[in-house]
Amino acid sequence: MNSTDLNYDILIVGAGPVGCVLAERCATQLGYKVLLIDKRAHVAGNCYDRFHESGVMIHQYGPHYFRTNSKSLLDYLSQFTEWIPGNYFVTSFFRNKYFPFPINLLTLAQFFGKESLTPDEAKALLEEKRENIDFPKNSEEFVLSRVGKEMYEAFYLGYTLKQWDMHPRDLSPSVCGRIPIRFNTDCRYVDHEYQLTPKEGFTALFAKMTNHPNITIQLETDFSEIIQKPPIVIYTGPIDEYFDYGFGKLAWRSLQFDFQVKDSEYVQDNVQINYSNDFDYTRTVEIKHVTKQVHPKTVISYEYPKAEGDPYYPIPTDANHALYLRYKELADQETETKNVYFCGRLAEYKYFNTDEVIENALRTFELLKSKHGR
Ligand code: FAD
Ligand code: UDP
Repeated sequence: MNSTDLNYDILIVGAGPVGCVLAERCATQLGYKVLLIDKRAHVAGNCYDRFHESGVMIHQYGPHYFRTNSKSLLDYLSQFTEWIPGNYFVTSFFRNKYFPFPINLLTLAQFFGKESLTPDEAKALLEEKRENIDFPKNSEEFVLSRVGKEMYEAFYLGYTLKQWDMHPRDLSPSVCGRIPIRFNTDCRYVDHEYQLTPKEGFTALFAKMTNHPNITIQLETDFSEIIQKPPIVIYTGPIDEYFDYGFGKLAWRSLQFDFQVKDSEYVQDNVQINYSNDFDYTRTVEIKHVTKQVHPKTVISYEYPKAEGDPYYPIPTDANHALYLRYKELADQETETKNVYFCGRLAEYKYFNTDEVIENALRTFELLKSKHGR
């Protein structure tokens, strides 16, 4: 940073959804001069999408299915994009057949070889299958208590072992609890009221959001390179890294994506296929089903879970949470004494979806405004 940079009112570390939203709010609502940095070569964080060499749009860091129940959040984002319907349909591959997933009446009928099932028939069937666990303490107990052993082993066990390299009994119930179980024929992946995809993609959305004369974006710049810091800092990177891993490293799960071009318009019937079997990958994604791009070719992304690599998933165990709380105590002091605010999936070590981190960013902005607004 050179001497002219001292004129910035705020430094925002990380140009993911949180960094972009806070940059936009500070620039437009407080008139702040904002320096927004990211160590990567692009904005949008893990929501980043781009055109692959084949010309097909891909989601570089895994499929991002935008969903929210908040009309006001949608209105806010709609300033920067038009939308297309989400259409997030997932199937699970088991014994050479594709089952609608999350489990719903159609999955249950197909799995148990019935012509069809009413909600009452399905409830009675699962009453026979499920295990009597009133307060599930982990993901295994959660699934067993809902659908029983057969479906747990068919759809959850293998996938979870691959995804986390941990047994579901060692993971919080919230991990498999993310997936609804339905007594209707709704086959959508998630339940939210609004399921939409930015028409030109997430990168275009966040680029438009941060296109403001008060915002300077510096890419391929790490926080450690910034010597002279403005009076307020927002940090959206990993919290343990900020404190030089003083209490030890937080555990993260990573992924490797293998993008393969296929010479036909579509290969899969729906955007995502999950494999709870012994294939090395967990899921295959054909994001064209969501982007609705018209193109003679398609790209399939194979996802291979990894221990090393970019930090994608905080690992929700009691030990990791306890370690995070030690860092959080330091972070709270840093906010109090140095005006450094911590926000986002990496900074809060929490498995947040995009709508949730944006809501958090808007709350952080209100806090910041009440303390520093002018
Ligand atoms: P990020 O998007 O991670 O952005 C943080 C940015 O900070 C990064 O660009 C990083 O390079 C930068 N940074 C970190 N440290 C430094 C540093 N020291 N110096 C400079 N820059 C730094 N959400 C959904 O709503 N729907 C989905 O379907 C969905 N699917 C997902 C699939 C996968 C595989 C993953 C990993 C996440 C998914 N998410 C999904 C979650 C979504 O990606 C996050 O909620 C969202 O991106 C979090 O925004 P953020 O700004 O907190 O962090
Ligand atoms: N899961 C599973 N089988 C599936 C899909 C998900 O067992 O077919 C479990 C797995 O542990 C996963 C969790 O449910 O990590 C949450 O799934 P989701 O698809 O929401 O994960 P994400 O999209 O965040 O990777």
